[in-house]
Amino acid sequence: TASLGILGGGQLAQMLALATLPLGVRVTVLEPDPLAPARLCADHLCAPYTDAAGLDALAACDAVTLEFENVPVAALDGLRGRVPVRPGAGLLERSKHRAREKEALRAAGARTAPFVVIEEPAALQGALRAVGGHGILKTSELGYDGKGQRRVVSDHALGAAWDEFGGVPCVLEGVVPFEREVSLGVARTPGGQVAFGPLVENVHRGGILRTSVFPAAVPDGVEAAAREQARAVADAWGLEGLMTLEFFQLQGSTLLVNEVAPRVHNSGHLTQDGGGISQFEAQVRAVLGRPLTDWRPLHPCAMVNVVGVVSPDGEALEPDWAGIDALEGTRVHLYHKAWRAGRKLGHVNLVAPDVSTLRARLAQLETLIP
Ligand code: ATP
Ligand code: MG
Ligand code: MG
Repeated sequence: TASLGILGGGQLAQMLALATLPLGVRVTVLEPDPLAPARLCADHLCAPYTDAAGLDALAACDAVTLEFENVPVAALDGLRGRVPVRPGAGLLERSKHRAREKEALRAAGARTAPFVVIEEPAALQGALRAVGGHGILKTSELGYDGKGQRRVVSDHALGAAWDEFGGVPCVLEGVVPFEREVSLGVARTPGGQVAFGPLVENVHRGGILRTSVFPAAVPDGVEAAAREQARAVADAWGLEGLMTLEFFQLQGSTLLVNEVAPRVHNSGHLTQDGGGISQFEAQVRAVLGRPLTDWRPLHPCAMVNVVGVVSPDGEALEPDWAGIDALEGTRVHLYHKAWRAGRKLGHVNLVAPDVSTLRARLAQLETLIP
């Protein structure tokens, strides 16, 4: 039987493993947290990412993939030459560092918001003006769910934000007046075959993804343009495996790439229940070098994240689970994680036979999830 190793054991690894087992493929995750979500559906090597025995076990698999981009370089070094790691180290180096990522996106012909790389105090001078006077300072490394970001509209605020982040390497981006946010998965096999996921429309709340909807309500030509940019980046970066691009769609059909995740993405979870193959199966097939088609859902579908929320008096607010079960077209996906405010704990997918039914059910579902 074939075998797949995964670096990281969070919810993405959990869902990758759930999609992999029916393909006849065994999954091994290397993950230091004994309570990580993937422990329940994969062989869990509970050890640091750089543990020699853990890396030996991954090296014995047919291929290794990852569920987050911040795996230590030493772990990738420990696997080099022993087993294919997909996506590879070069792509991961770019996608985990905002400044390098943006430069590499531009080099590949993709469009981005205006930005200035800030790696020493002198670079602060004139930076805000250069991006249009309204900016977002983002740390180059380790940010997610809007952490490590500050909106700034004055040079003073920019200096204060940079100090607050401790003077680490950052990127100052111009704030983009987007009409909507969309995302697209692209996969590329080691042989260079490219396939795409659905174009999905995303709404964020407090920096965290709240809902994703398929199909995205975009003007004609936007999906083709997104695919074109995604293919250019996948080819230029030599993608092996799957990555997801987040875009800002401006008025008209202009698309700017916000960032790239070198893996399945929260906005793609709706593919689990939309009919076609899921983004998780797509990543596994691309990583194992199996033939792959586009993974577009067959039905309109949506996803709402379940995030740890507290009431004004500090009480944990639960979704109305019975109400969710009673609403037609819902499917619940939980990650078996301890409750914490602001933490992604699960998601609810929703399907419907047509777009207007989807919209009506989504409005109801939103009232059931705080
Ligand atoms: P994640 O990795 O969880 O998607 P992140 O912390 O890496 O999030 P970004 O994706 O860069 O953060 O930004 C989070 C959200 O903030 C975006 O989805 C968008 O809603 C808003 N945002 C970020 N950059 C800009 C920008 N330049 N102009 C307007 N809005 C922005
Ligand atoms: Mg990000
Ligand atoms: Mg993002």
